[in-house]
Amino acid sequence: MLWLVESSPCSEITLGLRSISSIKMPLLKQGKPCGKCGGTLRYVSDRCCVPCKLAKRAKWRSENPDLQRAQNKKFATENREYKLAYIRQWHVDNYEHNQQLCREWREANREHARLYDRNRTR
Ligand SMILES: [Zn+2]
Repeated sequence: MLWLVESSPCSEITLGLRSISSIKMPLLKQGKPCGKCGGTLRYVSDRCCVPCKLAKRAKWRSENPDLQRAQNKKFATENREYKLAYIRQWHVDNYEHNQQLCREWREANREHARLYDRNRTR
């Protein structure tokens, strides 16, 4: 769950944030416009500009794919219940989109899909 003090166009960005349910404080708030990008949405914890911090983190992830993978694995292991609930919720929220992706994949991989169906029914 993402807590916002005020709504903002920035809140429509895919934030990639997760909050811990025990924290009952807003994660983001409106603040001074950023000197770099002009955005006003900021993290409460460190007052960093949200779009700039997300861009910086995305850059770090692309430069350190192995470290990122290790971090993801560590998080998933330590937060198994959260991760399963997140996946379940994603499938509920993205049912139509997921069905479309499956249809497209089946169209592009007919032979695989045929083998998959055949092996699945056995
Ligand atoms: Zn910024």
